[in-house]
Amino acid sequence: MELDDFRYKGLRRRMTEQLRAAFHFNERVLEAMDRIPRHLFVDRGMEHLAYLDRPLAIAAGQTISRPFTVAMQTHLLDVKTWEKVLEIGTGCGYQTAVLAELGAKVYSIERQRALYDGAQRILAALQCQVMLFYGDGYAGKPVLGPFHKIIVTCGAPDIPLPLKAQLAVGGRMVIPVGEGEQTMTVVDRLTETDYRTSTHGAYSFVPMLEGINKGTI
Ligand code: SAH
Repeated sequence: MELDDFRYKGLRRRMTEQLRAAFHFNERVLEAMDRIPRHLFVDRGMEHLAYLDRPLAIAAGQTISRPFTVAMQTHLLDVKTWEKVLEIGTGCGYQTAVLAELGAKVYSIERQRALYDGAQRILAALQCQVMLFYGDGYAGKPVLGPFHKIIVTCGAPDIPLPLKAQLAVGGRMVIPVGEGEQTMTVVDRLTETDYRTSTHGAYSFVPMLEGINKGTI
């Protein structure tokens, strides 16, 4: 299977140039996005739309976040090589691949079976070393924590307490909070008991839901 070609590389370069012009993103983030073939994560027939700055529909009625949102969440997360990162909402696995490309040790949870299966397939084909889990991200992964960073890619009504508890001291969580529209929120764990939150603009995500969905659609 030909995974990438010069045409997609050209479109991808244009996408990262547009992102660079739109915001002062960390260059490492843009370089990682320049290396990940986003067109392989979208549904067959949608490849030509993969490098436009817009969200796209994926299986199970979910959406792949627009490139600007992926760049912003990754930028805010400030991932360092070898950090343990927990992601809630694997979706198609694109954000997961970007985090792994930055050298993070990534653990990602998805509640939709079809998306979990799809992400396993594409990330394995790209030889992306990540740990994917099918389950409810509300609880996080206490046995594997604490995590240096936690990223939530669905809109949470409020910040789940188990996720706060699994953040390492000195660690950071990036989570869109709110129903309907979300406020991008950064939670820094300063000490065992102190957290500091800051907000970073309005976004629109699919909702964070409790439990798992076993259906294939
Ligand atoms: N980063 C992904 C975003 C996908 S949309 C991408 O770019 O493809 C958000 C995802 O969060 C959806 O796939 C949805 O099924 C998942 N999700 C929602 N609530 C969840 C929960 N409680 N646990 C795990 N995943 C959840």
